[in-house]
Amino acid sequence: MEETREALEFDVLFVGGGPANLAGAIHLMNLAQQAGKEIEVCLIEKAESIGSHSLSGAIMDPVALKELMPDYLDKGCPIEIADCRDEFYFLTPGGKFSVPYTPGYMHNDGCHIISLSKYCAWLGEQAEALGVMVFPGFAGTEVLYEDGGDRVIGIRTGDKGIDKEGNKRTNFEPGVDLMAKVTVFGEGPKGSLVRELGKKLGLFEGKMPQVFETAVKEVIEIPESGPFMASDTTVLHSFGYPLGLDTKGGGFLYKMKDNRVALGFVVGLEYEDPLLEPYQAFLSFKKHPLIAEIIKGGKVLQQGAKTLPAGGYYTIPRLAMDGALIVGDSASMLNIQRLKGIHTATKSGMLAAEAILAAIESDDFSAATLGAYEQKIEASWIKKELYAARNFDQALSQKGIGKFITIGAQYLSGGRGFTDPMPIEEDSSSLIKVDDPAAAEKAPQTQDLDGKLYLDKLTGLYLSGTTHEENQPCHLVIPDPNLCITDCYDNYRSPCTRFCPAQVYELEEEADGSKRLKLNPSNCLHCKTCEIKDPYQNITWTCPEGGGGPKYSIV
Ligand code: SF4
Repeated sequence: MEETREALEFDVLFVGGGPANLAGAIHLMNLAQQAGKEIEVCLIEKAESIGSHSLSGAIMDPVALKELMPDYLDKGCPIEIADCRDEFYFLTPGGKFSVPYTPGYMHNDGCHIISLSKYCAWLGEQAEALGVMVFPGFAGTEVLYEDGGDRVIGIRTGDKGIDKEGNKRTNFEPGVDLMAKVTVFGEGPKGSLVRELGKKLGLFEGKMPQVFETAVKEVIEIPESGPFMASDTTVLHSFGYPLGLDTKGGGFLYKMKDNRVALGFVVGLEYEDPLLEPYQAFLSFKKHPLIAEIIKGGKVLQQGAKTLPAGGYYTIPRLAMDGALIVGDSASMLNIQRLKGIHTATKSGMLAAEAILAAIESDDFSAATLGAYEQKIEASWIKKELYAARNFDQALSQKGIGKFITIGAQYLSGGRGFTDPMPIEEDSSSLIKVDDPAAAEKAPQTQDLDGKLYLDKLTGLYLSGTTHEENQPCHLVIPDPNLCITDCYDNYRSPCTRFCPAQVYELEEEADGSKRLKLNPSNCLHCKTCEIKDPYQNITWTCPEGGGGPKYSIV
């Protein structure tokens, strides 16, 4: 029997509580107020509270925030360090070379170091103060369409209180249908609703594949002494060790307030070696003398992981459809050249808000009218920034020294380089089969850990605050579990056990010597790496019960 569900109606529904949607909701309320219009705006977020699934570097260019809220400092915007001074290093296993020249886009002058989780929590308060109905703890699990057609009319939130076998528990609560004239999808990278929208409406057709990087990040409290804390430098970037020049990625260390630093390492997910483990690369970076010296005597306060969209301009999907828009990281708007996406996400939300208000005024929510958003993006500085970086990720993916020649050519030609567009390969198709199983069977790379400054995955997971309702259906859907053993283990030695930063996937040996993939879905950090990198595309990430996941507060 069909469940009876409550249905709530709004003018505009924002799905996801990251910087794009929060900025969109704030801008929309301000614009509506200026136009003398009363509108009902709702924002839902799958995390327990706004900001608790938000993790980023995060050096923020305040250009968009200044447009959104010129008095953001007076309004108490949480900023760790107001201005940045960068140093850039090429690392060898035991040494470092300071890079004497870096292009302008690498400089962070005038940018703010923030904690994205704190920042989003603050934006959520600003949105609520303007009258946005903000509902954390609600996961959107299904897009609703008008009469089964293509017009988006809202979303359904997930049922709560379903057990592992799919039966209703005593605390069962059916999900709610949230209906709106316009639904704005700002789910972050690899959004699960955007994936379904894309399949149904062909949003990604004719575009290059979206590609991603995975970042592991920590906030570490360090002793006050030490030359780094006393210096004017606030930002260190590195490349080279431990990945070398053939695999894309690098590390960062930023000063924060209260004797803390943000430390992170990013690995491009088009890597080829199935035995590579991003978490181990993070630990290797952390143990490099340049970093180890700075964080000596410190203690990790919080850890987390997240993917970021790296493909840029050529991977932006169609953004407007009947009744809906896509913003921010879900739309691949991060500028990988600057390793920044908060400013572009913010601006995309604001431009979406402007298109939405015009649609409300004309009472027309068709793709044609909402398409004004795409035109605004094309006319804005987002386009200018992303277009100049349109081949940058492809250049970074080149092996060896060739990447610097290609990057140089692009720099001198406004982003065109030698080939425009440069092709992009799907992250899921780049792994090279293990050709020496004996070598692959060797013990994985491990590091000396102390449980305080150098952590294993499970201790790091504990410090992410991640919890889920244990008795619920597994949110990681693997349609063909046999494939994991028959093909994926044989060819790639189960790379999910390595690329997942939270030890969700474990290979177990049965009494008869056969192998079995065991899942620990409660560990999931919602980073989406598994869905992106699985070479067989046999993992689909779906939203677990609302409120589950990390509880980031300072990363
Ligand atoms: Fe990330 Fe997937 Fe692991 Fe969850 S299960 S932490 S989404 S890789």
